Amino acid sequence: MKEKEENKQSGEAIESISHPNFEISRRAVLQGAAALGVATISGMALNLANPAEAEAANRVMPKKWDETIDVVIVGSGFAGLSAAAEACVKGSKVVILEKRPTYGGNSIINGGEFNAWDDELHLRKQLNLGEDSPDQHKNDTLKGGDNYGFPELVEILTSKAPEALNWMIDNGGLKLREILNRTGGHSAYRTHTCVEGVGRGYTEAIKKIAEGKGAEIRLNTALTWIWRKDSDAQTPIEGIEIQTGNKTKNIKVRKALILTSGGFSRDIKMRQSFNPSIVPEFNCTNQPGATGEVIRYAQAVGADALQMAFIQLYPYAEPETGILDTPAVYPFRGPGYGIVYVNKMGKRFVNEMERRDVVSMAQIKTGAKPTYSIFNEEMIPKMGTKEEVEKGIQKGRFIRAETLADLAAQLQIPADVFQETISNHNKYLAEGKDPEFGRQFTKAMIPLTNGPFYAIAQWPAVHHTMGGLRIDKDAQVIDIWGNPIQKLFAAGEVTGGIHGANRLGGNAIPDCIVFGRIAGVNANKAG
Ligand SMILES: Cc1cc2nc3c(=O)[nH]c(=O)nc-3n(C[C@H](O)[C@H](O)[C@H](O)COP(=O)(O)OP(=O)(O)OC[C@H]3O[C@@H](n4cnc5c(N)ncnc54)[C@H](O)[C@@H]3O)c2cc1C
Repeated sequence: MKEKEENKQSGEAIESISHPNFEISRRAVLQGAAALGVATISGMALNLANPAEAEAANRVMPKKWDETIDVVIVGSGFAGLSAAAEACVKGSKVVILEKRPTYGGNSIINGGEFNAWDDELHLRKQLNLGEDSPDQHKNDTLKGGDNYGFPELVEILTSKAPEALNWMIDNGGLKLREILNRTGGHSAYRTHTCVEGVGRGYTEAIKKIAEGKGAEIRLNTALTWIWRKDSDAQTPIEGIEIQTGNKTKNIKVRKALILTSGGFSRDIKMRQSFNPSIVPEFNCTNQPGATGEVIRYAQAVGADALQMAFIQLYPYAEPETGILDTPAVYPFRGPGYGIVYVNKMGKRFVNEMERRDVVSMAQIKTGAKPTYSIFNEEMIPKMGTKEEVEKGIQKGRFIRAETLADLAAQLQIPADVFQETISNHNKYLAEGKDPEFGRQFTKAMIPLTNGPFYAIAQWPAVHHTMGGLRIDKDAQVIDIWGNPIQKLFAAGEVTGGIHGANRLGGNAIPDCIVFGRIAGVNANKAG
């Protein structure tokens, strides 16, 4: 309940003021200021966001262990499951710890979008959607993150993304939809969607591989400390403390500890301590377990963290709750097929092909919540399915109308302005030039001439934390002096330095799976 209250959005944005990162409503900033004062005092004084901080200095390594495990993995999302699948070699005991009562973290509720420049079905060629390459994907990713991503890590992600996708198809029974999208910040059609249209399609495939090889998942079990004698470069990780209910146990880690505990979007105190502009009033798309204590435990034994202030807003969340449900993925998939974003005045306000941070800032700058995505019947099979849209209409998420005038009436936006906006966009598309926002047009885009027409309301919500633990290309955690910490690995959203200032949509799944697999393989060599 408290969490819900803390994350409640400030309601309609009325007036904007400048902030170094972006413009934000005055009301949201003012409301944030009171909470920020508290967070600043408690958060900055200790610069710690989570439990165990006070006793950290007094912790003493246990003299005896309750259990020994070869490879312990913390977190049961894409990264943890992938690490487990690779760490399971003959004779090795591999255990995934998950603090929540169910497996999957943010991964299982994710929108099901996976970027890869190719796949074993060669969808891009089949659908005649132009060219792509590992380098093109790499360059888009670096540019999309303002070149804060480390090129050697980005290259691993983009070059190995198709292999990760094919691994799930071949070994986990993953099935893809026969569609391919070009999404914000990407210069090619490379965003794949699983048949389920939600991350569960991938988590189930990887879980099948991991459990098939003998990995065990322990639910309701939280990592509460990491044991390392001191932070000298030669000193390995010894073990961990875990908690199940009110029972505490110490576990000796024989080969390696892999941290795959995800991001900290739900950790308001941690968010505030690194980026006060992401005020508590923003909604959040994440599951409640997306908190940052594991980053703090790793820092307490010498791990380095980087780029912690880079926190992404998802521009297309449900405006009142911040939920990223199935309908909320359509505005993300649509730009490559001609979807148009309009504000409450019925006008376009941004280049729809832009990255998430640019779209979010443009939405906030409109000064009035929400904004809308507009598409027509012809675009539906390119972005999803008729069944999904019908369900969305029944839930009140999508609005359908036979004419643009009727759609405007239902959205309560000025019909004449809206019709002129759409007619101008149709003209720009026909002429191949957008004099207003510089949208890049492709042959695959569809003009909004024939109805029925559809709309969905959208507004930014806190979504992804790009910063986290520093790793090298072997997924080893690097300490504050630049040395790998023996027996400690990390992968997925808990790491930083890959996506830079802004993650391109669809890049997180390949990041988690590619680096999760690398961590799993190397964990076996570590012990
Ligand atoms: C709604 C939503 C939709 C998204 N859609 C997409 C998309 O379509 N494409 C894309 O590429 N990306 C998408 N993303 C981003 C992507 O899903 C995440 O970055 C990714 O799932 C992170 O995976 P992970 O394995 O690193 O962590 P997670 O999947 O979050 O798993 C981490 C797990 O660790 C557990 N944990 C944390 N601390 C502890 C502890 N102390 N002890 C034990 N367990 C702990 C958590 O409870 C959690 O279950 C989406 C994100 C959200 C929230």
